Amino acid sequence: MKAAASRSSANASATAGAGSACAGAAPASPASPASPAIVRPAYQKFAVTVKRSPIDGHGAFAVEPIAPRLKIGEIRGETISVAEARIRATRSERIMIVELSARKAIDFSKSTDPMRFTNHSCQPNARLVIRNGRVEFYARRGIAPGEEITVDYGETHHDGKLACRCGAPGCRGAL
Ligand SMILES: [Zn+2]
Repeated sequence: MKAAASRSSANASATAGAGSACAGAAPASPASPASPAIVRPAYQKFAVTVKRSPIDGHGAFAVEPIAPRLKIGEIRGETISVAEARIRATRSERIMIVELSARKAIDFSKSTDPMRFTNHSCQPNARLVIRNGRVEFYARRGIAPGEEITVDYGETHHDGKLACRCGAPGCRGAL
């Protein structure tokens, strides 16, 4: 999904001369056997990696085989009002917001979940399910390691003005 929201150039006010900065190495926590890159939340059922996509920007790619119909993962983000979502959407070309209801939306801009990078395809291998306030991804068919995971975005705020580059046979040509 189009996720790289344009970063506003914030004026970081530097706090000068802030006493004794503790530069000592933090003691390694003994109870963390795995590196942070490997740890994933329980709702991310399969290992997925984010890398450059031939479709658009970055995409989510399967690291291990995924069987048909199984849940791949979820994306979690900041719950906001639909009104706020519409304002944010006008400020950024690449933002990912899902409207859950007439009032509630989720902004995934700050999410660290790999599924937030899922691109659109007119012939997707996965589907997006919005249920009980959760945004979940399920395999439509078997997905091989290295394959990019895609969903059909359906209706978007682009109103068919964004060219689709999914390359699938029967591509609708626009989002
Ligand atoms: Zn397409």
